[in-house]
Amino acid sequence: MKHVTAPRGTFDVLPPESAEWQELERVIDEVCTRFGYQEIRTPIFESTDVFVKPIGEGTDIVDKEMYTFTDRGGRSITLRPELTAPVVRAVLEHNLLQTLPLKLYYRGPIFRYERPQKGRYRQAHQWGVECFGAAGPEADAEIIALGIEVMKAIGITDYRLEINSLGCDACRHTYREALVGFLRNNADRLSETSRERLERNPLRILDSKEQRDIDLLNLAPTMDAFLCQACQEHFATLRTLLERMGIRALHNPHIVRGLDYYTRTVFEISSTALGAQNSVCGGGRYDGLVKSMGGPPTAGVGLAMGMDRMLMLARSAKGGEAHNGRPRVDVVFVALDEASALTLVPVMHAVRARHISADMDYTRRHIDKQLRAAGDSGARYAVIVGEDERHSAEATIQDLATRERSRIALEGVVGELAVRLRT
Ligand code: ATP
Ligand code: MG
Repeated sequence: MKHVTAPRGTFDVLPPESAEWQELERVIDEVCTRFGYQEIRTPIFESTDVFVKPIGEGTDIVDKEMYTFTDRGGRSITLRPELTAPVVRAVLEHNLLQTLPLKLYYRGPIFRYERPQKGRYRQAHQWGVECFGAAGPEADAEIIALGIEVMKAIGITDYRLEINSLGCDACRHTYREALVGFLRNNADRLSETSRERLERNPLRILDSKEQRDIDLLNLAPTMDAFLCQACQEHFATLRTLLERMGIRALHNPHIVRGLDYYTRTVFEISSTALGAQNSVCGGGRYDGLVKSMGGPPTAGVGLAMGMDRMLMLARSAKGGEAHNGRPRVDVVFVALDEASALTLVPVMHAVRARHISADMDYTRRHIDKQLRAAGDSGARYAVIVGEDERHSAEATIQDLATRERSRIALEGVVGELAVRLRT
């Protein structure tokens, strides 16, 4: 019979690679906590409304990528394609904006109907942070620094950080007019999709991935010439702060990001080591988002980083090493017959209770095979009991690296292992 396989664009995380995911999750928790952020967990699915307006019609996510379905109660439900809008939904629902600033982080799966390829999945994973109520550039700098700290902590050193400012509503309006003027005059050089967007949502064109659009945009006016005084100052201070924190950022006026809710600062972190899917992190300021979702006007800034792509980068930085090579357990128990198993199981239980990792091969294979498997797994010690040891209430402890053996009383096994493993 043919096996059922995982849906296209999804994958299983198997051991030992699952240890890499645990390590990444641990690093995210540790760094976010160190920077004063607390975890929020929101549902995997939300009302479709949570995403459509905030992310914006005309964006790739809303137009092409959402997993939307009608549930049995006739409601339109969407599997979350990102977490900023759900976090804002939760923050408003639970009145969390009463005490500001509010600093939250999250990690978990996202769903986008994309063409699957290396580094691009239909169930992907993101972690991210959101900071509400801080309008100044210090928050922007903190979030960028936090993202880089997490990347460094898992060994990613090869990346490029690019920043830009999209201005506020006021200066963006003037820019929009200048851009539309330029694009109208050159409409014949635009792709078909962009020509449609020219009337509906011209700023979207800036995010086009079509080569002919990119070529034309290289000649188009850029936002920097249109920033108002306050937006200019915000951006300049952010750049000064990053420089003082030792963070190298390149100003790229073409970074606009694929979501509608950004204002002022936007940034992207990418790496050539990822190939075509080169972006690993995106973020920025979204001062209008909370209000647009029905809340009080509240400044906000955040980032989202792709965990799948981070692990690809960490692996390539380590020269392709898939996992950290930690042993599965430190101690392996080997029972040579059934009666010995009855003797050893409670001893192993006591060892585990002392926070020493231990396991026993219940398949009753030959001792040589058990010891070889134990050695291959990276375990440090084997504790062996057969008829002989059982009669004298003893066990043989074998150092799996040196093969040195010694016999000790069964009741001394826990203490001896604790000393040898220094727990
Ligand atoms: P891309 O340009 O690669 O489609 P994006 O702009 O859609 O990225 P964002 O919405 O900013 O990405 O999400 C932030 C990060 O989440 C990305 O930089 C990437 O690392 C990761 N990501 C987004 N979509 C996917 C996906 N389908 N598969 C794997 N990772 C993804
Ligand atoms: Mg995308």
